Amino acid sequence: MKISHRIGVDVDKALGQALEDLNISITAVPEISGTTSTTRMIVFDIYEDDPSWDAVQQLLQGHEPSDVADAEFTSSEVREASWCGLFGPQLGYPQPIDTFQTTTYDVSQRCASCRAGVVQTAPFRLKKPTRWERRGLMQLHWVPGEVFVSRGLWSAVFEPAGVSHRPVANRKGNVVDDVVQLVAEEEADVVVDEFERSDCGACGRSRYVQGPGYLPAIDGAAPQCSLFRTRQLFGSGWETYQPLVVSRAIVNALLDSGRTGPAFVPLAGG
Ligand SMILES: [Zn+2]
Repeated sequence: MKISHRIGVDVDKALGQALEDLNISITAVPEISGTTSTTRMIVFDIYEDDPSWDAVQQLLQGHEPSDVADAEFTSSEVREASWCGLFGPQLGYPQPIDTFQTTTYDVSQRCASCRAGVVQTAPFRLKKPTRWERRGLMQLHWVPGEVFVSRGLWSAVFEPAGVSHRPVANRKGNVVDDVVQLVAEEEADVVVDEFERSDCGACGRSRYVQGPGYLPAIDGAAPQCSLFRTRQLFGSGWETYQPLVVSRAIVNALLDSGRTGPAFVPLAGG
């Protein structure tokens, strides 16, 4: 696993030169014409195992850079992991955008701040999805814990593994045939001691931040199923979720399917 950082920072001539002297390949962000600033905005990518990583961090001290960190796993790290978190591209929004919470969930126990405590009572409604057969799997904005798969991928990979599913509806609420929502019948505890907390200030629920890198290891015996949710909550602000985790057999079947949608984050602990 390697952690990459995409860093954006406002630099003067000296700092820009110092970065280039470290062989950092910087890209200047186009300036607004007519500005007379003596600094310029640049972006660059760097891995934490880059020999210049420590020096770059020292140079940037006090310059308030933006930093988007991401984890890159090798193919064998993903294929050989016992369990992986299952994610996909976030394409589209649950429908109707303004009222999906109340049309999809029983919200009587919902925390107004973190939105935990909802119980799904109706199918998610989607705009007509596109390119299902190429992607096979996707997520929606605003509901990071839910994964949707094409009927074809469901039949090929998830159904034989005994995974449950729910129907999905179109914008009008009519069930559609070409996509289903994955359902976890079980939850398992994971070891979150090392994870940053983001507890909800309103309801007091414990919550953790999923940073770049491995998801936490299973705490105790692994569940006897192919797909489960972490019992622990993750997220921040009003996004609260329990990641879906799938077995090595499902990970490898999804990779072998050639679909571009599935993305994996291995759990720590092998
Ligand atoms: Zn809350």
